[in-house]
Amino acid sequence: MRKALYPGTFDPVTIGHMDIIERAAKLYDELIIAIMVNPRKKCTFDSKERKALIEKCIRNLPNVRVVIGDGLTVDLADREGCNTLIRGIRAVADYEYELAQATANLMLNNRVETLFMVARPEYSFLSSSIAKEIAIFDGDITNFIPEEIKKEVYDRLYINKDNGKSQ
Ligand code: ADP
Repeated sequence: MRKALYPGTFDPVTIGHMDIIERAAKLYDELIIAIMVNPRKKCTFDSKERKALIEKCIRNLPNVRVVIGDGLTVDLADREGCNTLIRGIRAVADYEYELAQATANLMLNNRVETLFMVARPEYSFLSSSIAKEIAIFDGDITNFIPEEIKKEVYDRLYINKDNGKSQ
C-alpha cells in the first residue's frame, strides 16, 4: 500500500492546500494529512479545530484522513508507515525553507523522502495568512478558503462580527 504524509500547519486549510491534497490523493492509496506544530507560527485555530476544518473539506476524498501530529514529522511518517512527505512549493520564496526542511528530514531519517508538488499558478500567491488578513476586514475569501469552512473562518476572524454583518 502506497501511503504519503502531507504535513503542515493548515491554519486554516486553503484552496491551495486542497488542490495539493486532491492531486496527491490520486498518486497514493492513502494520503494522511498531519497537523503539525510549527514553532515559527502563532495559530488562530487550535489543532483540533484545524483537523475538524480539514475533515469538512475532504468528505468526497475517501482515501484521505487527518491526524494531529506531535514531535518530529519523520517520526510520525514512520509511525504511520509512510515513506513519502508531500510539500507544496508556491514560489522561489518557499524553496529555501522547504529545501532546508527536506534536507534536515533526510539527515534525521533516510527512509523518508520529500516529494515537492508545484502550486497551480492561480494558487501560487495563496496562503492561510493572506486569507486571514482578508477575513479580518470581512473581505471576500471565496477564492482563498473552501466554501465548507468559510463561515467558521469569518466567525473567528472578522473583527466587527458582533455587529451582525457576518451573519
Ligand atoms: P507549514 O507551516 O508547514 O509551512 P502550511 O500550512 O503553511 O504549513 O503549508 C503546508 C504545505 O503546503 C507547505 O509545503 C506549503 O508550501 C504548502 N502550501 C501552502 N499554500 C499552498 C498553495 N497555495 N499551493 C500549494 N502549496 C501550498
